[in-house]
Amino acid sequence: MRIRGAVLERIGDSTPFADSKPIVVEDLDLGEPGPGELLVRIEAAGLCHSDLSVVDGNRVRPVPMLLGHEAAGRVERVGPGGSDLAVGQRVIMTFLPRCGQCAGCATDGRTPCVPGSVANNAGELLGGGRRLARGGVPVHHHLGVSGFATHAVVDRRSVVPVDDDVPPEVAAVLGCAVLTGGGALLNSARPRAGDRIMVVGLGGVGMAAVLVAASLREELGCAVIAVDTLPEKLALATELGATEVYTPAELAERGVQAEAVVEAAGNIRAFETAVAATAAGGTTVTVGLPNPEARASISPLALVAGGRSIVGSYLGSAVPSRDIPEYVRMWRSGRLPVERLVSARIGLDDINHAMDELAAGHGLRQVIVFD
Ligand SMILES: [Zn+2]
Ligand SMILES: [Zn+2]
Repeated sequence: MRIRGAVLERIGDSTPFADSKPIVVEDLDLGEPGPGELLVRIEAAGLCHSDLSVVDGNRVRPVPMLLGHEAAGRVERVGPGGSDLAVGQRVIMTFLPRCGQCAGCATDGRTPCVPGSVANNAGELLGGGRRLARGGVPVHHHLGVSGFATHAVVDRRSVVPVDDDVPPEVAAVLGCAVLTGGGALLNSARPRAGDRIMVVGLGGVGMAAVLVAASLREELGCAVIAVDTLPEKLALATELGATEVYTPAELAERGVQAEAVVEAAGNIRAFETAVAATAAGGTTVTVGLPNPEARASISPLALVAGGRSIVGSYLGSAVPSRDIPEYVRMWRSGRLPVERLVSARIGLDDINHAMDELAAGHGLRQVIVFD
């Protein structure tokens, strides 16, 4: 079938992207879903820093690639052999499929699915190959999702079903920002009663971690400390439930520390700030994706002397089919107002400008909505 989608043509174009236009919105051919696959009509797709990292070259992926890995939609057709999901079911895309059978999947989220990672790096679906093409030439999938399009063919193991009461924008943001930020906290940092929680870097993922932390305040009695260089992000964090907010300079000057620290900025200075602000006995969880060449300076002695840990977490070390329903319950109860992470609703054609906004740190989640 013919679809309309946003294809990244070139990596590392000059900024502003609104002028260089590395992403072209155009018509493409989408193949039929194969066995175990679904055709999904996309309803909403969020822009995440990991999309920008592909555009600016920090995360090298094969091009041309139809971008977008945070999305939600409805099943429109199922592949041969059927599916446990019915046509019309709303699904949340997740950006790392889980085969359920490999050594990675056996770790319960701690390490990524091995064939899922191989497929993602190749720009293919978990079942192998590509379903996207232009003029007979294949186009790569982005993380098994390629959600910046009217439709997508995805592996069943890339989606989690969700009830109709969860609006598409909320559903989309649950699939990356909340799963990653919330998982960093709940699956990796695992705060205990009385711990202080800190989030360094307040993009969509970091702010989702703040929201999840704030939802734990009554239960754990924990302080929620938010850190960012931008004053407007700090003001928003306060609105979303942070109890203390600091710029990195203020944080260092006052010597503020926490036991559960999530770094979600994806740059080395933020990582070093997070490690330095981790209290004795505490854990730094890093979910940011800095340039692969980047190296940090930290004190091994401070780790040893204070019994500190540093942990990396991909996709919030989540098992999406286990964790997403829990976030949905928290959202339904009003404890996790995920819709507040949505800062702008845009059209597919605004995508290059939206990447500039993301690079500038403006807003939280810009969500592409499809009618
Ligand atoms: Zn993402
Ligand atoms: Zn696996």
